[in-house]
Amino acid sequence: MNAFPDDILQAREARAETITALRRFGESVVCLRANVPGPDKEIPEAFLTIGFFLPLLPPNASEPLVFLQGADGPAVLATYKGLSPSELKKRMIQAEDTHPLGRFVDADVFGSEGPSLSRDSQRPCWLCGAPVWECTRRKRHSLGEILACLQTGVRTYLETQVDALIAAALQDELTLDPKFGLVTPTDSGSHPDMDYGLMKRAGEAIRPHLVRMVTEGIRYPDPESLFPRLKSLGWEAEIAMRRATGGINAYKGLIFSLGLLLGALGSLIGRGGRYAELPDTLRALTAQIRWDAQPSASTFGSQAWREHGFGGIRREAAAGFPALFRAAAKLETIDSPSLTMALVGLIGDLEDSVLLKRAGSWERYREAKERIAAIRFYDPVLIRDTTQWAKSLHLSFGGAADLLACAAFLSRFSRIFAFGPRWDQSFAL
Ligand SMILES: [Zn+2]
Repeated sequence: MNAFPDDILQAREARAETITALRRFGESVVCLRANVPGPDKEIPEAFLTIGFFLPLLPPNASEPLVFLQGADGPAVLATYKGLSPSELKKRMIQAEDTHPLGRFVDADVFGSEGPSLSRDSQRPCWLCGAPVWECTRRKRHSLGEILACLQTGVRTYLETQVDALIAAALQDELTLDPKFGLVTPTDSGSHPDMDYGLMKRAGEAIRPHLVRMVTEGIRYPDPESLFPRLKSLGWEAEIAMRRATGGINAYKGLIFSLGLLLGALGSLIGRGGRYAELPDTLRALTAQIRWDAQPSASTFGSQAWREHGFGGIRREAAAGFPALFRAAAKLETIDSPSLTMALVGLIGDLEDSVLLKRAGSWERYREAKERIAAIRFYDPVLIRDTTQWAKSLHLSFGGAADLLACAAFLSRFSRIFAFGPRWDQSFAL
C-alpha cells in the first residue's frame, strides 16, 4: 500500500526516538532495514530481506530486539553491550558486502551519542554498479526498474534457498539408516517396490512444484485464495512424481504435508507474520479441505475413520500439525540420533492409516506403535533390532517419515530466516 510522505516522515521520527531511547541501554545500537524505493515500503520483499538478514546480527543483544512496522517499512533494532559501535559497524558492512541480499539492506549503527557511523566508501548501485549518488543525480534508473531489481533479487534468492532446503530435508530423512522398515540408501525396508534411487528421482521431480507453494503463499496469503492454488500445485507435483517413478507413490503424503507447510510459511511472509502464527495459519488452510471428498468410501482409512473414529493424518492436519512442531523442536542439531528420536516421537504421536493397513489388526497396530514409542534414547543396537522386527512384519511408518522431512525443513529454514520477534521463534508452540 502506498504511504503518504507525511506518514513515512512520521514513522522515521518515531524510529529515531526509539533508537535514542535504546542508546541509553547499550554501547551500540543497530537498525536493520530493507532499502525499498518508492512510496510502498511494506512489500513482502522488505520482510523477506530482513528475515534472511536477521540471523546475521551478532547474538546476545543486551535488550530484546525491537520490531517496528509502519509507513517507512519494517525495521529491527538490536542493542549491544560489550560490542563497540566501530566493531559492530565493521561486522555489518561485511554482512552487507558478502550476503547475496546485502545490497538491499541498510544496517545503520549508532554509538551512545552522535550521528550514525558511516562507511568509508560509497555502496555501488544495484543495477549498474556505478556509485549510487551518480545514478541518483542523473536519474539513471526509473523507480520501476529499481523495484523490479529488488523484487527479482529477493524472490530468486528465496526460491534458491527453499529449493536447497527441501532437497536437504528430503535427504535428511532418506539417508537416515536404519529406520524401522522405511527406504534407506542400503535397504528398501518394507517397500519392495521402492529404493533409494527411486526416492531420489521422485524428490527431484516434486521440488520445483513445492518451491512454488511458498511463492504462491506470498502472493495469495489469504487461506481461502491460497488453498485451491496449493491443491493444483499438489496435483502437478504428484503427476511429476508418478512420471519419475513409473507410477509409484513415493511422496504423496509428503506433497500434502510439506505443501501445506510451505504455503503457510509463504502466507506468513506475505503478511509480515510471526512463527507463532504458523499453527493457526495451517489450521486455516486445512479448514478449506473437504475431507469427505478426499479418500473414497472404500479406502481403508475411511473405513477406520467411520468404524473407530481413527483420524489418520487428517486429525494431525486439522489440528495444525502439532506433532510436526514437537519433532522440529527435537532437531536443534540435525544428525542420526536427533532425527531418529524425532521419528520415534512422530511414530508415537501420529495415527497412520498406512501402518494400520499393513499391521492388519488394531492389536498389531498398537503393538507396533508402542514398541517404537518406548524407545527413550538413541541406542543403535535397539534401533537395528526394531528395524529387523518391523521389516519381518512388513510394517511401514510412511506418515511419520513425511513429517520428519517437514520437521527437518522447518528446522533448517528457521536457521537462515527469522520471522518477526526472535523470541517468538520457538517450536514449543
Ligand atoms: Zn545505476
